[in-house]
Amino acid sequence: MIKLTLIGNDYKYEIENIIQLFFPAESVSEQAENCTAHITAQKDGDLAKVTVDISDKHFEKAQACACNDFERTLCALLYEILSEYTGIYPKWGIQTGVRPTKLLRSLKEKKGIEYAKDYFRSKLLVSDEKLNLAYDTMSIQDPLLSKILPRSFSLYISIPFCKSRCSYCSFISHDVSKSHKLIPDYVQLICRELEYTAKVARDIGLTLQTVYIGGGTPTAIEAEDLQRIIAAVYKYFDLSNLLEFTVEAGRPDTITKQKLDVIKASGADRISINPQTLNDNVLKEIRRNHTAKEFFDCYELALKTGFDNINTDLIAGLPTDTVESFKDTMDQIIGLSPACVTVHTLSIKRSSRLVYKGEAEYSPEGGVASQMLEISHNSLKNSGYLPYYMYRQSRMAGNNENIGWSKPGFEGLYNVFIMEEAQTILAVGAGASTKLVSEDKTNISRIFNYKYPYEYISGFDEMLKRKSAIYEFYK
Ligand code: SF4
Repeated sequence: MIKLTLIGNDYKYEIENIIQLFFPAESVSEQAENCTAHITAQKDGDLAKVTVDISDKHFEKAQACACNDFERTLCALLYEILSEYTGIYPKWGIQTGVRPTKLLRSLKEKKGIEYAKDYFRSKLLVSDEKLNLAYDTMSIQDPLLSKILPRSFSLYISIPFCKSRCSYCSFISHDVSKSHKLIPDYVQLICRELEYTAKVARDIGLTLQTVYIGGGTPTAIEAEDLQRIIAAVYKYFDLSNLLEFTVEAGRPDTITKQKLDVIKASGADRISINPQTLNDNVLKEIRRNHTAKEFFDCYELALKTGFDNINTDLIAGLPTDTVESFKDTMDQIIGLSPACVTVHTLSIKRSSRLVYKGEAEYSPEGGVASQMLEISHNSLKNSGYLPYYMYRQSRMAGNNENIGWSKPGFEGLYNVFIMEEAQTILAVGAGASTKLVSEDKTNISRIFNYKYPYEYISGFDEMLKRKSAIYEFYK
């Protein structure tokens, strides 16, 4: 337990994020008694001051700063002290936000790229390695973002069901066998929500540019149900300006020829088939309920069905995975030559079955997960893939990032639009959240749907009423 005392400021969340970089397994409290360390962050006039008492050592740093720079300065001082104490220099520095590329772009637009790069290096203490990664990704994104039309949107459809739950999952998706009886009502209501959302978009004059069906696992429901949902999209929306239609097929144990045929016939041009690893022992360990062979069979089936824009998701840092086995997975995936490969870093959320055990792969130094990421970067770059979107989460192994890589011309537009918060996302289904983005991108407003299918069904009318806020936003 680490005791945190804040004086003259309320940057608890931000300071805690910095502490987590160095001590991911420790909890932080303002009331701790038997604590392993005591950290004080103080705003005293124009002085930012941080003290750390840990293992009989006392550290103290202070710096004068502008009144609008206290949060960053306190975080930077704490980062410096904890780096000195631990010998660890997390490569993203104090940039703990979800969207590094969005921040880099916004600094570039305000004061130019040299200023933006310098801010990342000297103010946020980001390493050159991560800065270059963010810069390369941002550069790929710029022409993609220019495809966004004025008053346009993307549509997200949530199918929050899975056949079983993977051990690292923090997204509580419903077990299909238990919630099977909810699916007919769910499908019926999601079609109604699609109809209502299409009407709102039409009334306001919004143009649909991308569609993304995600989960859970969209292919966990029957082919006929998937077909009904896709048919509703075609029935209610004007798709004449559509740039991309993605179905995240997801786990190989749910994908059948019939479902792939439904997706293909719908005109969806992009699918995702996600093994996470091709090591059968690791798949078993994370309770993924499929084998590497099932993934390969599915992939072949998708090619035969005519899909040429396939994404595969992998995770670096999975329990029991090794650097050699990850490299083997990477080599096999590249051997398939998919259009996109998304490499996530394991993030251990409190709501997942996996718990933080302080093992090497989750260590703040980076450990095994960082080595795996380095392998993925080198292998993918050498095979002609480029990073096109990235995001970060809390509690990521080695304080790394998730990166979507693609062959040039196959970038997933929806992923870029949502991660850069560059376009309105109208979202339907349980657990989905609509994000309204103003034309100048300065105003962002969210409308949350009910999280679980049973709430979505019972509170449907109430939830639909909330969506009238879309009209307000566009007034
Ligand atoms: S497939 Fe995805 S959403 Fe479903 S249980 Fe596994 S990690 Fe969670």
